[in-house]
Amino acid sequence: MKRNLLLTPGPTQVPPQLCEALGRPIIHHRTPQFQNNIKQVVDGLKEIYQTKNDIYILTSSGSGAMEAAVVNLLSPGDKAIAVDSGKFGERWVELCQTYKADTIAHKVQWGKVPTAAEIKSLLDKNPDTKAVFITLAETSTGVTPDVKAIGDVVKNTKAVLVVDAVSGLAVQEMKTDEWHCDMVVSGSHKGLMLPPGLAFVSASAKAIDLINKSTTPRYYFDLREYKKAMEKTDTPFTPAIGVLIALVDSINMVKKEGLNNMLTRYAHLARAVRAGCAAIGLELFPDQNCATNVLTAVKVPANIDGEKLVKTMRDTYGITVAGGQDHLKGKVIRIAHMGALDEYDILTGLACLEKVLHQMGHKFELGAALTAAQKSLNSK
Ligand SMILES: *Cc1c(COP(=O)(O)O)cnc(C)c1O
Repeated sequence: MKRNLLLTPGPTQVPPQLCEALGRPIIHHRTPQFQNNIKQVVDGLKEIYQTKNDIYILTSSGSGAMEAAVVNLLSPGDKAIAVDSGKFGERWVELCQTYKADTIAHKVQWGKVPTAAEIKSLLDKNPDTKAVFITLAETSTGVTPDVKAIGDVVKNTKAVLVVDAVSGLAVQEMKTDEWHCDMVVSGSHKGLMLPPGLAFVSASAKAIDLINKSTTPRYYFDLREYKKAMEKTDTPFTPAIGVLIALVDSINMVKKEGLNNMLTRYAHLARAVRAGCAAIGLELFPDQNCATNVLTAVKVPANIDGEKLVKTMRDTYGITVAGGQDHLKGKVIRIAHMGALDEYDILTGLACLEKVLHQMGHKFELGAALTAAQKSLNSK
């Protein structure tokens, strides 16, 4: 029997307790029992988001929540700044353009992050900007910007700050209110350890004002309907009932471990993965000072076919890591350390990486990655 270990940045490993919760019989969604589930989920998400703002629950993958943000906040012709620092930032740009926003695509080199000073200068030149779109953890490159500093800039303008926290939520710090983030989107299948199916959108008063003014046609993702429904602890359409029921358990797992302890665990795993990779000559792809704890992207040695590496780890040994996207295809691998993973999952992944790299002819001392990772895990 082959294992199926997901060291991927979504979907992530679903722990056995949540598999059990997912297997429970479906109940009807217009019932007091289900309303109780909605209430627990919304209250729990507010704690994880660290917000008092509204939170709406959508049935879609993370990109659905991104689309909801764009169609509800922007009217055609509205000016928007969309930071493109990788595959997911690019999605903000494409969404804004699709809905005919006057889009300023702020391109940042892959592996680097936008700075608050850059955003400030763009906003100074474009005081009519309605929204600024950024990414908490850019999953394609493994970076995280200083959201707090960007929030401090945007809060003094007419624009709302919109954050894609799909991969970052419950894995790294996301202080929605303290950092003045007007809309934060996320989903069920990353830090919350469940299958895809649910997406979440938080909305501040500043965001709700734009939602009410948007002239962009919208139906399924019309957040005005979600607001009305949420006020009655309801959803406008049939939600992913099974995922929502299991999300109550997922949130309870976060509470039991403690959000801060969880974030510390990911930081601890991230350090070990980086130490292990460095010990066998795999260089970190992004700038060290902006690397996220969600995942580690490392460069594949020049003589190694990165796509074959990923495929062999997965198909021969049942350990899935992610390859590179776009121009990084075959050139980087991305090892996620988010969700239901512990030290031994990380060590298993590194052991497999060593084995396959060694078989493919990369020169290093077998065991070096494991030794470095073990030392990192044992140092506090
Ligand atoms: C996974 C992810 C998304 C959403 O992707 P879906 O496939 O639509 O769930 C968006 N942004 C980031 C940063 C992600 O990692």
